[in-house]
Amino acid sequence: PNPEQRLRKDSKMTIAPEHYPAMLAELRQTFASGLTRDLAWRDAQLEAMGKLLSDNEEAIGRVLAEDLGKPPQEVLLGELALLFSGIRHTRKHLKRWARPRKVSTPAVGQPGRSWVQPEPLGVVLILGAWNYPFQLIFGPLMPALAAGNCVVVKPSEIAPKSSALMAELIPLYLDQRAVKVVEGAVDETTELLKQRFDHIIYTGGAAVGKIVMRAASEHLTPVTLELGGKSPCVIDRDADLALAARRLIWGKCINAGQSCIAPDYVLVSPEQRDDLVAAIDAELDKMYGEDRLGSADYANIINARHFQRVRELLDDGKVVIGGGVDEARNRIEPTVLVDVAPDAPVMREEIFGPVLPILTVNDLDEAMAFILERDKPLAAYLFTRSKDSEQRFVETVSSGNMCINDVIMFMAVHELPFGGVGMSGMGQYHGKVGFDRLSHLKAVMSRARTPEPPVRFAPYSELKMKLLR
Ligand code: NAD
Repeated sequence: PNPEQRLRKDSKMTIAPEHYPAMLAELRQTFASGLTRDLAWRDAQLEAMGKLLSDNEEAIGRVLAEDLGKPPQEVLLGELALLFSGIRHTRKHLKRWARPRKVSTPAVGQPGRSWVQPEPLGVVLILGAWNYPFQLIFGPLMPALAAGNCVVVKPSEIAPKSSALMAELIPLYLDQRAVKVVEGAVDETTELLKQRFDHIIYTGGAAVGKIVMRAASEHLTPVTLELGGKSPCVIDRDADLALAARRLIWGKCINAGQSCIAPDYVLVSPEQRDDLVAAIDAELDKMYGEDRLGSADYANIINARHFQRVRELLDDGKVVIGGGVDEARNRIEPTVLVDVAPDAPVMREEIFGPVLPILTVNDLDEAMAFILERDKPLAAYLFTRSKDSEQRFVETVSSGNMCINDVIMFMAVHELPFGGVGMSGMGQYHGKVGFDRLSHLKAVMSRARTPEPPVRFAPYSELKMKLLR
């Protein structure tokens, strides 16, 4: 590290709001210099990102344990493994993604060639959320740099230790001329959003998503909003209940339910409901043993405010599993609720905690109607043995992402775009789609100088009109 970096590290300096305009000016200068267009530079940044994460795995695990009580396995599963494989995938394909993409030129444009030329946008702002602090900063940073942009990242202040570690490490590994970290909360973000960016990727709740989009509109800056919502999980009448219980409660309990694509609630037939509850209870025993609330394999709720919010939701139905809380440590036991009114608070807001309401519906059609009446969710899940049910669900339900007979696992497929629809967000990333999202796909045509067919030039004539058809 150079002296400036060391100074920053030692004094934990962050870039103050009065310096944002100068920071943007510096990034624009870097961008204009062409530095970030060089594919070798981009690849080196991706490599350095991988090194940052692997060199500092222990420190990352430590801050995530402090911020969220994340168990080490979940640090790897939910944050690092996805980033490592994403970096490998991006580095492997980067040259191909960045190449001009030839398209055919119709007769009227002949002789000539046409192609799509991906080019970087400029300066991208990334606003992260607290639940997967590293995944939600480095996940978007990866395509932003791969596409050749300069970037400002602002980790969420709600996970302060993670934010501080990223502010410390990023300048040590990534090119400081092109990547800046800003730490801060509402005031800093508000100030940051006054600057002009070429794209903003925001991850978080819809209320702040609207603030971000409003601010972006001042500069006509395009936004990608990675929001949340209530992701439903439907159990078909012929579903394998033990399998459904195991997979869905895993998805509900990782990170103590604070995952944007966690199954939010379950829809099941009245006849299967109690068997499903029993199967979930058995799976929880296997996963966490007797002391579920105290298990070292189970995360905390992020802070006291969210703890209180989730705790209040426990009153919205009959607790049939769990219900225990540890206020001193912000922990809530994996909890299943039944007899929940469809309009109860727990069914109005995204739960974002380890509480699973199970509601009953008579069949798949009723389940799909229930989902369609509500905001489009970020993910939708169906457990079934029937190909027909699978097809109807896939063709009927609109959601950002979908998974049949499992939850969350589509995240591991780099070729699948990730993002919401309607109230769950706009714009997708991951893999090539992420590269394209943070590029401008410039349309280019190059004409040969000769010959020059006269057909489009005046004087117009009947014959020329005919040739144009
Ligand atoms: P958060 O509170 O950490 O906020 C996200 C960002 O917005 C932070 O950087 C924060 O500083 C900034 N911010 C907060 N208030 C602001 C304001 N008034 N003005 C400007 N900026 C402000 O995150 P959150 O909203 O609690 O995150 C939880 C939500 O995020 C859930 O709805 C969840 O589903 C969603 N989420 C979505 C994804 C996804 O990839 N789609 C991933 C994780 C979380």
